[in-house]
Amino acid sequence: MDFDFNDDERDVISTAQRFAASKVRTRARAIDENNEFPTDLAQEMGRLGLFGLHMPEEYGGTGLGYKAYVLAIEQVCAASMTVGAIIAINALTQESILRFGTDEQKRRYLPTLISGESLSTFAFTEGQTGSDPRAITTTAVPDGDTYVISGEKTFASLAPSACVAVIFAKDDSGKTSAFLVDTNSEGFVIEGELETMGIRGEDVCPVRLNDVRIPRSNLLGEQGQGYNVLLTAINVGQIGIAAESVGVATGALAMSLDYARNRMVRDKPMTDLPTIQSLLGEMSARTDAARWLTYRTADLKDKARLTGRDSATAKLFASQVANDVADMAMQIHGSYGYTKDLEIERLYRDAKVTQIYEVVSEVQRLIIGGSLARES
Ligand SMILES: Cc1cc2nc3c(=O)[nH]c(=O)nc-3n(C[C@H](O)[C@H](O)[C@H](O)COP(=O)(O)OP(=O)(O)OC[C@H]3O[C@@H](n4cnc5c(N)ncnc54)[C@H](O)[C@@H]3O)c2cc1C
Repeated sequence: MDFDFNDDERDVISTAQRFAASKVRTRARAIDENNEFPTDLAQEMGRLGLFGLHMPEEYGGTGLGYKAYVLAIEQVCAASMTVGAIIAINALTQESILRFGTDEQKRRYLPTLISGESLSTFAFTEGQTGSDPRAITTTAVPDGDTYVISGEKTFASLAPSACVAVIFAKDDSGKTSAFLVDTNSEGFVIEGELETMGIRGEDVCPVRLNDVRIPRSNLLGEQGQGYNVLLTAINVGQIGIAAESVGVATGALAMSLDYARNRMVRDKPMTDLPTIQSLLGEMSARTDAARWLTYRTADLKDKARLTGRDSATAKLFASQVANDVADMAMQIHGSYGYTKDLEIERLYRDAKVTQIYEVVSEVQRLIIGGSLARES
């Protein structure tokens, strides 16, 4: 692996950094307080090409690869995880269509999902299952040249802005398939937005499918192949969450350094205290380790050598780092950090979801350990 960035990757970093500094940082607090989806920032990310870094040029992407994808997410998440995570959530549907879609499906959906003219949602979680997607109860019943989809998905990020949803449902074979459902279809009902603890403003909503009729041609991949679609998309989503984690940890470290430099303890900056230096050193080392693991995992995807164990490892480790670093940052900020006056409490709340969504850490450990056990 080449540890240097090429010119294109350096351009991605500076574009995302400029966008984060000029447009995102100043809005992060309001997005969180108002739980308000930043439509204009999502559109701007599309215009800047941040949704198409890993997508082929023929659909409007730049084809730079998954390393570029994680670099962009990291930079934006250092300013606001809500905004940066939009790239990774949108990527779930993009990846599903790219790997499993027909030519017609790719031409119909990918260009606008890449340009940011529209977004997508990807819904598998249901009331009784989030960690075991094979246990879903949503059904897709064939009827002539259509499927009729019925069920309820409890968490669908970006749903109100999405033009298309990837919906997982059991078909007549009893197996899970993936379907492309236009969100303006009759019977596709987006319930009120959830009040989440962190990444507020991500427009996470329950979605009801009341006998939604879609053409048979909207089956994504082969019948019964839904689990493959899910795993393929989630592998890319998990690299994105590792990058979100690195971004949050980077933001928390920067805020802590800034705070400690400016706060005086016995007439000296707090940064002079060995205890604070020790915390900063630990935060920096852990963030760097998570960052390089994330880059390496994205590089494996670029080389078509990524396994489920690799993406599980990156997400498991980086999400733990994000939470540990946010915790240490809170300690540096003391009681003021615990108030809403300072922004570190937002990062502390945002970090938690990285250990929960797109496979909880407990299951990630089992995936990694199970893979090791099978090897031996
Ligand atoms: C902000 C946010 C956005 C989300 N966006 C989406 C979205 O866009 N689309 C979507 O489909 N979902 C989304 N989700 C849902 C999320 O992916 C699921 O909640 C997640 O996969 C966990 O599922 P669960 O909540 O059912 O947890 P559960 O499966 O109930 O797990 C709870 C706990 O039980 C234990 N556990 C469960 N299963 C196992 C096991 N097999 N082995 C060991 N321990 C286990 C673990 O300790 C785990 O932490 C979102 C969630 C949040 C919070």
